[in-house]
Amino acid sequence: MHWADVVAKELADKYDQPLIATGISPTGIIHVGSLREAITGESVRSAVEGLGKDVRLIYLIDSFDPLRKRYDFLPESFEQYVGMPISRIPCPCGKHMNYAHHFVQPFLDALESLGVKCDIIWTHELYDQGRFAECIDMAMRKRKEVIRILHEVTGKAGDPNYAPYNPVCEKCGRFTSPVFDTYEYPIMEYRCNCGHCGHADVTKGDGKLTWRLEWPAKWKIFGTGAEPFGKDHAAAGGSYDSGKRIVREIYDGVEPYPIPYEFVQLKGVGQMHKSLGSPVTGLDAINMTPPEILNYLFLRVNPERHIDYDSGLGMLDMADEYDRMERIYFEGGGNGTDENSVRAYELAQHNHVPGGMPLQVPYRHLVNVVQMADDFEGVIEILSRTEEMSKANEEDIGRLRRRSECVRYWLNGFAPDSVKFYIADTVPCVELSMVEKVYFQALIPKVMDCNWDADTIGGIVADTAKESPIGSKKGYQALYKILIGKTSGPRLGSFIASMDRNFVMNRLIQASQ
Ligand SMILES: [Zn+2]
Ligand SMILES: [Zn+2]
Repeated sequence: MHWADVVAKELADKYDQPLIATGISPTGIIHVGSLREAITGESVRSAVEGLGKDVRLIYLIDSFDPLRKRYDFLPESFEQYVGMPISRIPCPCGKHMNYAHHFVQPFLDALESLGVKCDIIWTHELYDQGRFAECIDMAMRKRKEVIRILHEVTGKAGDPNYAPYNPVCEKCGRFTSPVFDTYEYPIMEYRCNCGHCGHADVTKGDGKLTWRLEWPAKWKIFGTGAEPFGKDHAAAGGSYDSGKRIVREIYDGVEPYPIPYEFVQLKGVGQMHKSLGSPVTGLDAINMTPPEILNYLFLRVNPERHIDYDSGLGMLDMADEYDRMERIYFEGGGNGTDENSVRAYELAQHNHVPGGMPLQVPYRHLVNVVQMADDFEGVIEILSRTEEMSKANEEDIGRLRRRSECVRYWLNGFAPDSVKFYIADTVPCVELSMVEKVYFQALIPKVMDCNWDADTIGGIVADTAKESPIGSKKGYQALYKILIGKTSGPRLGSFIASMDRNFVMNRLIQASQ
């Protein structure tokens, strides 16, 4: 059984209306690993939905976390905001509501494009609304038990001054420590390092629980049934272990079914954005990987296995694998080892599997076609020379359009040079020998009235080279030279078949003179 189905069954058996929680701490650049969490949550959601259950996925944004330090990507002026909740820090670009929005908004837009159906919840709003008040009160009243649990779980000495809750100083805006003995619900006194003494109301956004107390409080508030989280939280003595005890012994709730996931590793030459010199972000991954393929990438292996996200040539292999699973899903022919991957393909559609086999354009071919066209209309025009585009329905065109956009993004920032080319309007400035010109002359009459398809053209190019003094290898190189100014390139048969016949004829005539 696929892992998402295992979790789904567990949830459906236990809850009438299962709730799955995922989340993100938007303190800085969002890494590609955050995508794994969101997609893992969505896949479980759609698997539960497939069992006929009324299921909800929530996406919790830790917008009330403090800014821990001034990261390198922040201007120096942001030094003054360190220690403040990120929902109260201005956005660095001036276009967003606050710091948290600035970093998470593009990611939220992208989640939509991935088909992740979740309710977005901002943690700072939960505090403002007093949703945490009951848990804060319990944590404060049972503070000594909290300290004992944390000691027992982590093995670290208990800190008698441990504060489960930190008020925000109304004067300097930073998180500070409470005065324990005078606490009386809902008011907590504090004495801030800045010298200010004040009162925090735990039913308002005047402070927050520490992470080890906040996470189980969210389980209690939402009745979370399952939650994916990074494997660091799952380590022995980690926050899942302490959360399990705190939710039961302090908050009188239960812990969710844990789905710890392994981090995503970046692999291959393309792991840096070439023009920006920065690592691949979650947004880059979304922009250069078609959504259905990105979903599939995270679903084909168990969450506890690591994933290599290869932004280089591996991108093409991943697309090929996805298309192969699609063919097996619709046409059969897979073997036993494909079963899990075919189910991953199905889950990647979020319960919207196409009604019939979609039009498949090999991804490598699309990479070439995109480079031959100025825009998407051009892509369709070129594809029409080699594919039966009249059979394409609206969904096929939509998918092709998305894939073309991803390919273009990939080519602009990440693709290795070996797959890139540019077809100049005239013969590129290259030296051509007599032997090469003779080869072109021999090709002209054959290309003039042959069938215009990849196999025929590939055959003509190969046979003519073999019969000419030039030979096969040099013959191919000569054609690449006059088409793209390089000595290697896309497979010649389909490459030339994708071009207009008159264009190819003119190029051969010009080059042979
Ligand atoms: Zn901004
Ligand atoms: Zn202060």
